[in-house]
Amino acid sequence: MRRLRRTKIVATLGPASGDRAVIERLFQAGADVFRINMSHTSHDRMRELIAILRDVERACGRPIGVLVDLQGPKLRLGTFAGGPVMVTRGASFTLDSQDAPGDASRVFLPHPEILEAAQPGQTLLLDDGKVRLMATEKTPGRLVTRVEVGGRLSDRKGVSLPETMLPFSALAPKDRSDLEAALEAGIDWVALSFIQRPEDIAEARKITRGRASVMAKIEKPQAVQRLDEIMDLSDALMVARGDLGVELPLERVPGIQKQITRAARRAGKPVVVATQMLESMIASPVPTRAEVSDVATAIFEGADAVMLSAESAAGQYPVEAVTTMDRIAQEVEADPTYRTIIQGQRAEPEPTGADAIAAAARQIAETLDLSAVICWTSSGSTALRMARERPEPPIVAISPSVATGRKLSLVWGVHCVIGEDARNQDDMVERACRIAFAEGFAKAGRRVIILAGLPLGTPGATNMLRIAFVGADHADATPV
Ligand code: PGA
Ligand code: MN
Repeated sequence: MRRLRRTKIVATLGPASGDRAVIERLFQAGADVFRINMSHTSHDRMRELIAILRDVERACGRPIGVLVDLQGPKLRLGTFAGGPVMVTRGASFTLDSQDAPGDASRVFLPHPEILEAAQPGQTLLLDDGKVRLMATEKTPGRLVTRVEVGGRLSDRKGVSLPETMLPFSALAPKDRSDLEAALEAGIDWVALSFIQRPEDIAEARKITRGRASVMAKIEKPQAVQRLDEIMDLSDALMVARGDLGVELPLERVPGIQKQITRAARRAGKPVVVATQMLESMIASPVPTRAEVSDVATAIFEGADAVMLSAESAAGQYPVEAVTTMDRIAQEVEADPTYRTIIQGQRAEPEPTGADAIAAAARQIAETLDLSAVICWTSSGSTALRMARERPEPPIVAISPSVATGRKLSLVWGVHCVIGEDARNQDDMVERACRIAFAEGFAKAGRRVIILAGLPLGTPGATNMLRIAFVGADHADATPV
C-alpha cells in the first residue's frame, strides 16, 4: 500500500478516534503518524492506544509512527471563592502565593518561581490570551498587575508569560513520568511542549537515550529566538501555532511558520505544521476555503507533515478530515507551480559524501525521469538526507529496522519498507527493484536509482549510486 503524495499526515487520537475500527480507517484514509496528547491521556489509555496502533500496523503491513506529545510546564491560576469573576480594564489585579480562593482583586498563583521571575513591565496572558495583564509592582510572593484587556476569569485558567524567561525546565514531574511510561510502551517520537532553550532538549535526550526521536514544539517566543541552537539538538520541529498565536501577535505566526519550515528544510530535519488546519471540520464535513488554503500553503512550502488536532481527536468527522488533507496534498503536489516553489527553497548539499550522493541521485533521477529513488538505510539518515533534496520521484527506503521505518513515517516523500540487509551488491540491486515493483513504485521496463553505503549496515557511509532496470522478472518472487 502506497500513498499518492509526499507530504505526511499526523492525526491526533482522542475520544472521536479511540477504537480500533476508527484508527484503522484513519490509517487507510491517509494518517501516517498518530499523536497521543498526554494533556488528556492516562498512562493506561496511552498503552491501549499504542497496542491498537501496533495491531493496525501488523494488519496493514506498513510501519506507523507513534508520537507522544508531553504537556510541558503548563501554568495555571488557583481557584475563585464565588465562581467566575470579571476583571475590567484599568483595574488592579494581584497574583500571590496565598493559597486561598480568589476574587475580582486577587488570585493564588501556585507557581512561586513565576512570582519571582516576572518583572514590572512584563505581560501576563490568561485563558489563551483572552485576558491581558501588565505587571506593575513586585514584592516577595506578590505580583501586582494592571488589567490591559479585561474579561472573565475562572478556576485554573492557563497563564502565559511571553516576555519572561521561565526559570524551570520544559519537563515537569508529570512530563518525566509520562515520558518514562511512553518509552517503556515503545514510541517513535516524543514532542516537547513550551521549550525555551536548547538545554530543554538536551535534558529530554538524557532520558530518551536514543529510544525515541525528539521533536521540539516551537510555541514560545524564547524558542523562536534560539531556533538554530534548538534545531541542532532536535530530530524534528513542530510549528505549534496554537500557543505561538497566544504568546505572539497572531499576524506574526505565518511569517514564523515560513522561517521555521525553511530552517528545518535547510537542516534536513522534519517539520510539522500544526493546529487549526481544518478547524471547522470539528463540526462540519467540509472545510472552509481559508483552511484549504492554509493546508496548501504548508504543502507548497515543503513541510514534511501537516497535523490534525481536535479535528481527528474530538471532532465529528475525523476520517473526513484526514481524507481532506490527503486530497489537498495530492492536488497541490500535482500543481504545475509546486515543483518550482519546492526547488526555490532547496539548500545546497553540505560537504559530506551522503549529501553529495543524495544531490547527484536527485539530479540523475530527474534528468532521466526515473520512477523512484531507493535508499538502503539502517538508521534512516540516508533517507533523511535524500528527503532534504525534495526530489521529484518518490523515495523508497529499505531498512532492516522497524524503528527506522516508524521514524521515517513522518518524513517528506519517504516510503519505508522493512527488509533485511542485502547480502551483496547483486542482491541489493535485485531486491531494490523487486521492492519498487511490488510496492507500486516502478513498472516493468522503467528505471530506478539506488543509493547505499557499502559495506551495508555501516551508518553514515553512503558511497554508492546505481541506475537499474526494473524487469518483468522482478514481479515474480516475494521481495523481502
Ligand atoms: P498543543 O500544541 O495542541 O499541545 O497545545 C500545539 C499548539 O500549541 O499549536
Ligand atoms: Mn501548544
